[in-house]
Amino acid sequence: MTATLATTPLSTTDRCDSCGAQAYVRAVLDQGDLLFCGHHGRKFEATLRPKSLGWHDETSRLTTSEPVG
Ligand SMILES: [Zn+2]
Repeated sequence: MTATLATTPLSTTDRCDSCGAQAYVRAVLDQGDLLFCGHHGRKFEATLRPKSLGWHDETSRLTTSEPVG
């Protein structure tokens, strides 16, 4: 595992670990990565982001024509 993943763009095959929707947020933790949709990314950001080695947020893409998870 490597923290360089924090900058790798998310793809349509990446899924939220909480609900299975398309992931737009990646939290890089000591134990590995967690992926979240826009909804769960916002929900967990306050608690998880301070503990994360990296936080990759693509939720700005949700304002485009991308399908919302
Ligand atoms: Zn979700």
